[in-house]
Amino acid sequence: MIESLLIANRGEIACRIIRTARALGIRTVAVYSDADANALHVRQADEAVHIGASPARESYLVGDRIIAAAKQTGAEAIHPGYGFLSENADFAQAVLDAGLIWVGPNPDSIRAMGLKDAAKQRMIAAGVPVTPGYLGEDQSPERLKDEADSIGYPVLIKAVAGGGGKGMRRVDTAAEFADALVSCQREAASSFGNTDVLIEKYILSPRHIEVQVFGDSHGNVVHLFERDCSLQRRHQKVIEEAPAPGMDEATREAICAAAVKAAKAVDYIGAGTIEFIADASEGLRADRIWFMEMNTRLQVEHPVTEEITGQDLVEWQLRVASSEPLPKRQDELAIDGWAMEARLYAEDPAKGFLPSIGTLERFDLGATARVDTGVEQDAEISPFYDPMIAKVIAWGEDRETAREALADALDGAVVWPVRSNAGFLVEALDHPDFVAGTLDTGLIAREGDALMPPTHPTEEALAEAAGALVCADPIAGFRLNAAPRRSATFLLDGEPVEVELDGQAGTMPPFEDVLISEAGQTWQLKPWRASGVAAGAAADGAILSPMPGRIIAVDVAAGDAVTKGQKLVTLEAMKMEHSLTAPFDGIVADLNAIEGGQVTEGTMLVRIEKDS
Ligand code: ADP
Ligand code: ADP
Ligand code: MG
Repeated sequence: MIESLLIANRGEIACRIIRTARALGIRTVAVYSDADANALHVRQADEAVHIGASPARESYLVGDRIIAAAKQTGAEAIHPGYGFLSENADFAQAVLDAGLIWVGPNPDSIRAMGLKDAAKQRMIAAGVPVTPGYLGEDQSPERLKDEADSIGYPVLIKAVAGGGGKGMRRVDTAAEFADALVSCQREAASSFGNTDVLIEKYILSPRHIEVQVFGDSHGNVVHLFERDCSLQRRHQKVIEEAPAPGMDEATREAICAAAVKAAKAVDYIGAGTIEFIADASEGLRADRIWFMEMNTRLQVEHPVTEEITGQDLVEWQLRVASSEPLPKRQDELAIDGWAMEARLYAEDPAKGFLPSIGTLERFDLGATARVDTGVEQDAEISPFYDPMIAKVIAWGEDRETAREALADALDGAVVWPVRSNAGFLVEALDHPDFVAGTLDTGLIAREGDALMPPTHPTEEALAEAAGALVCADPIAGFRLNAAPRRSATFLLDGEPVEVELDGQAGTMPPFEDVLISEAGQTWQLKPWRASGVAAGAAADGAILSPMPGRIIAVDVAAGDAVTKGQKLVTLEAMKMEHSLTAPFDGIVADLNAIEGGQVTEGTMLVRIEKDS
């Protein structure tokens, strides 16, 4: 067995690999960029080497520095994780040339599957069904258009070097083809430095079904069943599960056999995934499932397979890289129950899924589900890398149990002030089509707005949070024997809201706040007086009316000496009494409040001058 391992990655996958390495007694070496100096993976590893500036192309993508770091620390092997250099055959070769162990397939296998057109040619030769389409060398726009016409619309133009859902254009009519081709090639050039494309029949009612395969250096290849990754946004997976809903035993056998055949065709060693696209218009049928591409690495969604098979796939990778045979034979592997994973992103669904960065002041995903993450509370979410901050994985006896467990875990997620997609994930998990298992890759795009999480907490959650903020204070507080239904104005994420207080008495502590988390969403509730207006007023001693209302008491006179916190004026507004107090010790320099008088928001009521 390998004794020391360098992990050429960051975030959750680096932490995931460290976890297994540690359990196997393997010494771990992390690498990190400037932005990741305090990252969790760096703290978890036995050793860490700084490899460059924050942008990935100056650190995590610089193969030479990573290999040098391995040499410097005496690491025996390099695990690339996913993304970054994991599917870079030249890097894999350089690792081997440096005398190190590469935890992954041979560079030739990576190369064979690296470009989508060549991979499909290879699969056709091996007898694996592939998506119908054009894979030719002739890349002239005329020829590509002719091919699209004869395939029949809709078609999908795909960059042969594409990945991560980029470099793809669906074309519905011949008239749109030319423009779509130009824009696809432009994206392919800038993202992958290769403008070649292939044309595929666009499969209707598409389901993304993939099969986990594993090979060892002794010629064995097994599969670990399928995953369904059909819930996607812009061709990127959002929720994954295993097994696939609606998969019957015969179809499973057929596609898993096709996946093993595909892996054997490229002498595959290590963890790999064969991705298929299925036409699910009449359920899953073996003759309507086609090879799409192979990912020659560990996949983001590998945990769902681990959960249903009871295997640790990182352990399998490390054993295979150590030249051991696969830990299990095919007939020793079976599916137990159901697992579902959701990708938690630092992004704001309400703002078009804009990535959200900053300090993760609160981060709590509970303890009921498996959480694979690379961050902890107080971590900095930087703009340099993928916004995925965690994966939440739930297992159950059956699909519904797993789904409910995952939805529950996400429902209670607290992520603040960084925005997350947890609320969106809850909505997606609860969507009737998802619940019924009648999903396809277009569900999110179709349902868009229906999956938007609530923008406000429920009245009950608001009242509970407000109640927590209102501290009992018999002197300055609300009169206990006044009308039974009281309410107060608070700021919910900066917007004023009126909240029923259920007869509670007390005053607002000016600088406290409380987080409300519900339905995967997190909001901040503050007393109104902690707002900018009040803070500004406190600085110069001018007490402004925080809202329109009626002055019901004036407790001071001009020229009075007052002490910090002393009640000056009581305002009644929105069915509630608000005490305005002295921000510091001083003298009442101006008094502009008359008992019984109506005031507008921002009216200067009292001005206190500091004692000098
Ligand atoms: P694909 O989308 O190609 O089928 P995956 O679903 O496994 O494959 O996702 C791989 C993607 O994960 C990469 O394209 C990259 O954007 C992202 N990624 C890479 N490294 C990390 C990381 N350390 N943490 C989070 N996300 C990452
Ligand atoms: P990437 O390398 O970016 O992961 P893939 O070829 O795996 O590219 O395709 C990504 C996603 O695009 C698939 O999961 C699927 O949702 C969609 N897709 C790909 N090919 C087709 C097709 N022929 N018909 C319909 N949808 C497709
Ligand atoms: Mg893919």
